[in-house]
Amino acid sequence: RGAVKGPRRSPTLLGVRIDLHTHSTASDGTESPAEVVAQAARAGLDVVALTDHDTTSGWDEAAEAGREHGVAVVRGTEISARTAGMSVHVLSYLHDTAHEGLARELRRAREARTARARRIVALLHGDFGLTWDEVEEQVEPGAVIGRPHIADALVARGVVPDRSTAFDDLLHHGSKYYVKHYAPEVLDAVMLIRDAGGVAVFAHPGADGRGRVVSDAVIDAMVASGLQGLEVDHRDHSSQQRERLRTIAARHGLLVTGSSDYHGTGKENALGENTTAPEVLERIEDLGRLAVVR
Ligand code: AMP
Ligand code: ZN
Ligand code: FE
Ligand code: FE
Repeated sequence: RGAVKGPRRSPTLLGVRIDLHTHSTASDGTESPAEVVAQAARAGLDVVALTDHDTTSGWDEAAEAGREHGVAVVRGTEISARTAGMSVHVLSYLHDTAHEGLARELRRAREARTARARRIVALLHGDFGLTWDEVEEQVEPGAVIGRPHIADALVARGVVPDRSTAFDDLLHHGSKYYVKHYAPEVLDAVMLIRDAGGVAVFAHPGADGRGRVVSDAVIDAMVASGLQGLEVDHRDHSSQQRERLRTIAARHGLLVTGSSDYHGTGKENALGENTTAPEVLERIEDLGRLAVVR
């Protein structure tokens, strides 16, 4: 309209808002896959990835809701893994669910999560009377169980006021009630993701919630195994960590993503609080076996 024009930008890419990490009731989020997508539309997002822990069971519902709400849906999974006794997460985008090796590892991790949740509950039963039935009431049938469901059961029982307090007081990594679960070695996880045609992005690699942060050497080894990206912009990262991770990403030519890690009302993380550049999503779609659902 006016004589003064801003810099020319690609109109298709300008203002596209992309959030590549969310959870639904298929794992430990509090909203169904369709609700997560509806909330994404409400939050003004153009693209959302559903990345439940160790499962793809929410994909179809999310994709259908995406078409209904005009939100593009990226099908993903946040895969549990380990390195040097530490629990780490790798996001896999657009992989083939028919890949037997990856499907088997995910199944094994899901089963281990259930056995581990039972052990945590047995420990909590002694001091707080918590029962497995009370935890099951908090889990959608077929959902992947995690500590947040145990937290919800503790809230329902009146032991703690909310999920965060449950984690701070009873469920954190150093707690006497904490129990580990089986998960594949992180290099094996990355190789399986790649073999299944997925795009492998290290989730919150600079989060220190588990006591320590993964070393540069481990990230280098992950890259050698096929890692393609780092989730740099995440609320659990300090500005120093973001800077460190951007440097590593530049050194290896890795994709850099940003995401909310939304869990519905279970965490403060808000949809779109961190976002990913459209060019990065284009690369992910080029590299992945499946298409983004539009
Ligand atoms: P798990 O998968 O059972 O090891 O539990 C880890 C999950 O708990 C992650 O998805 C986190 O997002 C969630 N979590 C960790 N800390 C908190 C917290 N303080 N409040 C709510 N959720 C949390
Ligand atoms: Zn979670
Ligand atoms: Fe995670
Ligand atoms: Fe997550």
